Amino acid sequence: MKQFVVIGLGRFGSSIARTLYNLGYDVLGIDNNEEIIQALADSITHAVQADATDENTLKALGVRNFDVGIVSIGQDIQASILVTLILKELGIKFVVAKAQSELHGKVLYKIGADRVVFPERDMGVRVAHNLVSSNILDYIELSPDFSIVEIAAIPEWFEKSLRELDMRVKHGLNVMAIKRNEEVIVSPKADDIILEGDILVVVGQNKDIEKLEKHV
Ligand code: ADP
Repeated sequence: MKQFVVIGLGRFGSSIARTLYNLGYDVLGIDNNEEIIQALADSITHAVQADATDENTLKALGVRNFDVGIVSIGQDIQASILVTLILKELGIKFVVAKAQSELHGKVLYKIGADRVVFPERDMGVRVAHNLVSSNILDYIELSPDFSIVEIAAIPEWFEKSLRELDMRVKHGLNVMAIKRNEEVIVSPKADDIILEGDILVVVGQNKDIEKLEKHV
């Protein structure tokens, strides 16, 4: 069972910490704000008030024994960088850090973060795509060139097979899965028929996805 330490329990960090705890994992949360610690005390395994930029404090808390460290300090860039560095130096295998800008993200990678997340930027991208077309339910950037989108099937697709839709040739897109109520059809076949209410999980180049967005 993996153990997680979440440092910085603002909106993002506390959401991660609570979710992991509710999934049944051990979660140590650290924040220097006493009120935040009190508010979260009953919602995670341990909540400790401490300044995480102090290496000795982190050592004393046994942070080195955790499998995954999440650094969710956004505003105070210096603290975010210091804590990420300390976690890597203590030997935590996987450290995820939240960045508030591209430059901040680059620095976090340079000092050893295994993954950097940009919650505001990424959520902004998702919401924007959903606003352009309400049929775009989710949008996940895989790289600067490729993304995965979830698209609610439009009426002109209903009762047609994937072969008839021919998205690969017409749009350069691959349908990876079809969500139908609670069911997920993974790697659908050419003969699978799209029904009203289906959600298509599609992967492709951003330029092709953008064309489809305008169409749906
Ligand atoms: P969010 O946008 O997710 O709320 P913030 O950057 O505003 O993120 O929140 C960061 C959290 O990290 C705050 O609760 C703050 O008290 C905490 N924090 C900031 N610096 C330290 C530090 N040196 N040690 C421990 N916690 C810190």
